[in-house]
Amino acid sequence: MDWGHRRLPPGVIVTEQLSSAYQTLLSAIEAVEPRIAQATRDELTDQRASLKLIASENYASLPVLATMGTWLSDKYAEGTVGHRFYAGCQNVDVVESVAAEHARELFGAEYAYVQPHSGIDANLTAYWAILAHHVETPALAEFGAKNVSELSEADWETLRARFGNQRLLGMSLDAGGHLTHGFRPNVSGKMFHQRSYGTDPETQLLDYDALAKQAAEFKPLVIVAGYSAYPRRVNFARMREIADQVGAVLMVDMAHFAGLVAGKVFQGEENPVPWADVVTTTTHKSLRGPRGGLVLATKDYAADVDRGCPMVLGGPLSHVMAAKAVALAEARTEAFQDYAHRVVDNARALAEGLLKRGGKLVTGGTDNHIVLLDVTGFGLTGRQAESALLDAGIVTNRNSVPNDPNGAWYTSGVRLGTPALTSRGFTTSDMDEVAAMITDVLTATEPTTTKEGKPGKAKYTMPENLASTTQDRAAKLLEMRPLYPGLDL
Ligand SMILES: *Cc1c(COP(=O)(O)O)cnc(C)c1O
Repeated sequence: MDWGHRRLPPGVIVTEQLSSAYQTLLSAIEAVEPRIAQATRDELTDQRASLKLIASENYASLPVLATMGTWLSDKYAEGTVGHRFYAGCQNVDVVESVAAEHARELFGAEYAYVQPHSGIDANLTAYWAILAHHVETPALAEFGAKNVSELSEADWETLRARFGNQRLLGMSLDAGGHLTHGFRPNVSGKMFHQRSYGTDPETQLLDYDALAKQAAEFKPLVIVAGYSAYPRRVNFARMREIADQVGAVLMVDMAHFAGLVAGKVFQGEENPVPWADVVTTTTHKSLRGPRGGLVLATKDYAADVDRGCPMVLGGPLSHVMAAKAVALAEARTEAFQDYAHRVVDNARALAEGLLKRGGKLVTGGTDNHIVLLDVTGFGLTGRQAESALLDAGIVTNRNSVPNDPNGAWYTSGVRLGTPALTSRGFTTSDMDEVAAMITDVLTATEPTTTKEGKPGKAKYTMPENLASTTQDRAAKLLEMRPLYPGLDL
């Protein structure tokens, strides 16, 4: 096959044999439950046909996807490598050790735990490991016990009360933090006494001095760095310094940008691994692996993180750990580093394309994979912009901007990300065309007014044909950059 000048990411080229293998598998599924086979086929059609700018999504390679579809799923393997609560785990031991070895070597971490089923599970594992290390272990020593089951009822009550009011300082949701960083609807907000740090009201950038001051006043056990919707890099050396000044544990949740760390875009002070005590991540966002999570830690925390199962996890998903190993092996290639750099180049090109057409961006730009477009300049809410773009074939998600005047439901922004389109081979000039399509749609979209004559927050009108002409422009780009080329179902 001739791929011309395009540099394709690893694993997306499909051979005829692989394509017919997938056809065979789907017909086997079809024989049992045709609706599931059909939904699976339809999902491929939809993924191929959509201009996916959802910053948290990606396209895993077929080797990664194929690794999940096996009998490794059938095995129970609670425990850790070589120390399982079930017999016959020798192959799962291989799977888990290979995945952990790749994770350690790829990220330069002292220890890696690859069992968490998702990003939320990785964070729960990390939080309880930190609590075990800093609350439970000292209490056991104090009460002269080897483990919690040896504690008297009174001592156990005391320990439980101590778990209940530990302090956590995380980034606020509207500045780009994540629900698992201590927000009340999430269990992390119920476990911890939480406060959040925001961004500078003028620059919309992280204000390290203000954070240092807040940390000195609040004296948290844990400072959480990391984000889901912040378009800039973080200085983790400075974060370490702030944590050290107050004796806090530094935990970094790199769920969104793990691929940029793996691909060596973020190095030195921008790479969290050498600075943090514990680093958590998902494996399915910019890292382009299977849906899942993992925890990296210094050796001080290794034994505590290893207790993830049974602390907060049940049996590991062996088939997914296997797919993590495959994805991490891919991420150790030069091709992946090239991919990661192109993700950032594409985000910059998208930002520049929006700015030169009058778009307003949170922080004025990007230096990672995220662009946060403030749509108030178009007279729209985030919800209207998200829906209008979707009508035109452009998939984004609405997102709060700092101090959002429209609240967390309607919002004033849309979040755009480049990992998925970059996996399809999109270039910087493609991203300029995407920016033109976005601004054309938003400029022509008008909010409708309510009965009282006030602008509504949800409804809008678009000129006739705008949706279909934009869809045609999207289709042209997508055709040039096919997803899983050669896979014919
Ligand atoms: C996506 C995300 C998570 C949660 O990941 P899930 O796999 O959906 O549980 C956690 N933290 C951050 C910062 C994220 O962006």
